[in-house]
Amino acid sequence: MRRIGIIGGTFNPIHNGHILLAIYCKEKLSLDRVIFIPTCTPPHKSDKDLVSEAHRLNMCNIAVREYEDFSVSDIEIQRKGKSYTYETLTSLKEIYPDDILYFITGADMFLSLDKWKNPEIIFEKAVIAAVPRNSSDYEQLNAYYQTTLKKLGAQADILDEPVLQVSSTFIRENICKYELIENMIDRNVYEYIVKNNLYRK
Ligand code: NAP
Repeated sequence: MRRIGIIGGTFNPIHNGHILLAIYCKEKLSLDRVIFIPTCTPPHKSDKDLVSEAHRLNMCNIAVREYEDFSVSDIEIQRKGKSYTYETLTSLKEIYPDDILYFITGADMFLSLDKWKNPEIIFEKAVIAAVPRNSSDYEQLNAYYQTTLKKLGAQADILDEPVLQVSSTFIRENICKYELIENMIDRNVYEYIVKNNLYRK
């Protein structure tokens, strides 16, 4: 029985915060591998500067290529339409029936989980791994888990340390100022963005 981490995201673009999230969870939860799953249409936001699924998938593949236990799945892109997590985890559980799935999420998404479509199915298929955004988040995440998510059947591992503070929005807004974002994004992903003229206003 393997322990498989799943990171779903819009990844618009993928950045070092996402990679550190995966490295941290892999270490803390003794995961055997981590699968990044870029959304087709995110169910919860409509970024006006959302680039195509193909570009977001390509950038994910570039960002993980030096990590042998990380991979990227196009399962949501192939399914098309809104990418509901319960559907993704249902499919993954069919592919990996004997393994334990950990759905990895940051604080903001974790704190909205009870509003997602069919949360009980999500909690039946996967353990939730939550990573705080800052060092004072832990209490809030744990209280929400105890009072709200447990009643819906969730099992969660709430990790106690944040990873690098970085956001995709900041990277998109400063795409022309490499000196501001160079520590936040893989150099090859940055070059892909420049070559394909992404996120230019
Ligand atoms: P995103 O912005 O690309 O980020 C992916 C994940 O990485 C998020 O959980 C985010 O946490 C986390 N993250 C990013 N930077 C981080 C950092 N520096 N430290 C810690 N965590 C960090 O993805 P997204 O658009 O929020 O989507 C997340 C997933 O939730 C997607 O798979 C989406 O389909 C799913 N979702 C599903 C439903 C549904 O099924 N109804 C509803 C909403 C979302 P934060 O949450 O803190 O940003």
